[in-house]
Amino acid sequence: MEELPLIRIKNVSRNYHFGIVNIRAVTEVTLDIMKKDFLVIAGPSGSGKTTLLNIIGLLDKQSSGEIWLDGENVTHRNLHSLHGHRRDEIGYIFQTFNLIPVLSVYENVEYPLILKKVPRNERRDLVELTLAKVGLGHRKRHRPNELSGGERQRVSIARAVVKSPRIVLADEPTANLDSNTGGEVLELMAELNRTQGVTFVFSSHDPAVIERSSRLVRLKDGTIVP
Ligand code: ADP
Ligand code: MG
Repeated sequence: MEELPLIRIKNVSRNYHFGIVNIRAVTEVTLDIMKKDFLVIAGPSGSGKTTLLNIIGLLDKQSSGEIWLDGENVTHRNLHSLHGHRRDEIGYIFQTFNLIPVLSVYENVEYPLILKKVPRNERRDLVELTLAKVGLGHRKRHRPNELSGGERQRVSIARAVVKSPRIVLADEPTANLDSNTGGEVLELMAELNRTQGVTFVFSSHDPAVIERSSRLVRLKDGTIVP
C-alpha cells in the first residue's frame, strides 16, 4: 500500500496585502512530506522559506491551496482549531532559539510536556533522557543566557523532540551559529533522524545543511524551481 504523506500541500499560495500592494510570498507550491524525511527547503533570503515553513507548521494560513495532515483535509480548518495538532504533533526550532529566558534548561524542555499534560514522573524521565541525547545533562540548571549559541540550539532541539512529534520544523537552525557549531547541531539532528526516525523539514541556505538533505526543494521568488 502506498504510504500516506505526513503533510501534503497542494498549490499553496500566500499573499500579503498592503493597501493596493500585493506581495506574493509563496506561489502555487505543491509538496509531500514523508515519514523520516530530512527535507531541506533552500533558497535565498526573501524566497519564501519562512512563509512556507509557517504554513506547513500550521502557524500561518495559506491564501489559497489545500493542506492534508495524515490524509485528513485541513484546508478549511482555522488555525485556532489546529492548536492540538501543533502541541502534540509538531516540534519547532527557530533561527534565534526562542527559549524562555526565566526558565532553566530543564524547565524549557519540560514545558511542552506540561502543555501536553504528561504526568510528572514520565516528564522527568523524558526530559532527562532527551537532555542526555543532546549532550546537555550537565547544563540542566542553567538559564539560556548562561549557554553558548550551540548549547542553546541543542536545548531547542531537545524541546522540539521531547514530545515525540510526528515532524520537526527547523527554520534556518544554523544561521546564527559559527560553521563548526552549526555542523555539530546538524549532526545531532541527522542522528535523531537516523536512529529515532524523527522527520525533519528545514529551511536553510547553509550549504552544509543542503548537503545533508535526503530531499531538497529549491525556492525562488516563492515558487519551487525544478
Ligand atoms: P525567507 O524566509 O526565504 O527569507 P520569507 O518567507 O520571510 O522569506 O519572505 C518571503 C517574502 O514575503 C518577502 O518578500 C517578505 O518581505 C514577505 N513577507 C514575509 N512575511 C511577511 C509579513 N508578515 N508581512 C508582509 N510581507 C511578508
Ligand atoms: Mg526566513
